[in-house]
Amino acid sequence: MNAVKSVKQDHCANSELMYVMEVFCQMINHCIGLGLQNDITSLKKFSAMFYHELDGYQIYSRYKLNAISQACRILSIRKRAMKKGIIPASPFVRKLFLISCYGFKINGRFLTIPVGDRKYVNIVLNHHTATKLTGAEPRAFIITPNSLSICIRKEVQEVVAESVIGIDRNLRNVTISTQNETIMYRTEKLLSIKENTTHVVASFKRNDRRVKKFYQKRLGNRRARRVRQLLHKISKDIVSRAIQSKSMIVLEDIKGIRKLYRKGNGQGKNYRRKLNSWSFYELQRQIQYKSEWEGIPVRFVDPKCTSQLCPICGNRIQGGRFHSRKLWCGNCERLMDRDVVAAMNISYKGWSGFFHPRGLSVEAMRGNVDKLKPLILRADGSNLQIKK
Ligand SMILES: [Zn+2]
Repeated sequence: MNAVKSVKQDHCANSELMYVMEVFCQMINHCIGLGLQNDITSLKKFSAMFYHELDGYQIYSRYKLNAISQACRILSIRKRAMKKGIIPASPFVRKLFLISCYGFKINGRFLTIPVGDRKYVNIVLNHHTATKLTGAEPRAFIITPNSLSICIRKEVQEVVAESVIGIDRNLRNVTISTQNETIMYRTEKLLSIKENTTHVVASFKRNDRRVKKFYQKRLGNRRARRVRQLLHKISKDIVSRAIQSKSMIVLEDIKGIRKLYRKGNGQGKNYRRKLNSWSFYELQRQIQYKSEWEGIPVRFVDPKCTSQLCPICGNRIQGGRFHSRKLWCGNCERLMDRDVVAAMNISYKGWSGFFHPRGLSVEAMRGNVDKLKPLILRADGSNLQIKK
């Protein structure tokens, strides 16, 4: 199994790199123009028809292919948006960057990048990047005027799981259920970070759209960084527990959650804002890439009924009359936390689904009920019922 991730570090591009980035972005914009004129989004067709259009640009020749592929990527995103009924403005690359999977080398603590005819630029890698690169194969790099990302790949052997960790993501906590214990990570801090940012942005009184936009962007970026950092702590802890106990990680397959909280669905605007800023996917993304890198399997289960069935007896349980987050099981006579119940149920679902796969043990048959004719057995997935 191949695991892929990227390492990012800060750096300041010199004038040579800035020039290469500028030419690279000009090439992308040239290609976007050609693609729009001729209505082409396929990379193969594009490079066959227009590769020589880029002859005039004085740049390392392999970057031309990368520029074409970037232009095709942008054009195909536009095409997909248009299919959905969104009419986007003409695409245009404004921010400088350089992306390539060709010609670069890593020599110890340096990344060597070709910038022209037998001309190279060396970028010093910091300690963090250098340690991450050991034992992994660098595949591509992305440079912007103030950052460098290197995409790395590693061959990993998937761990044979011995137990399951079920994860339930909620607005105010993340609960995990392992074989022996249930752990709840509080995430109220994330909510307060988001709420604070919203209030600060709303408090701007100056009637200048450009200034307002500038501050909104700056605060938004800061908010995203703080949220990401807190989620990194949680995901790191979960993955390290999974490595220690050789466990499989099981998550709910959450889909279409944003459609539930739209204007006109009968919820208040504060409630909608809270639910729509819930970063459930970011945690999933972090857990997925971190565990893939270590060979820990990640599986998804259907979120249906995870907080409605008792994890002890399996009966349907009711919401508590006085606590909205507590559930009462009449059979076991127990008051249980809704999130703990969900995490345990997810863990059980993963355990029964991926460790002891269960299904109907009968073979489905159709036709040939006449006793005189020979019986032909055939499995038919469309009719999974026992015929009498
Ligand atoms: Zn029960």
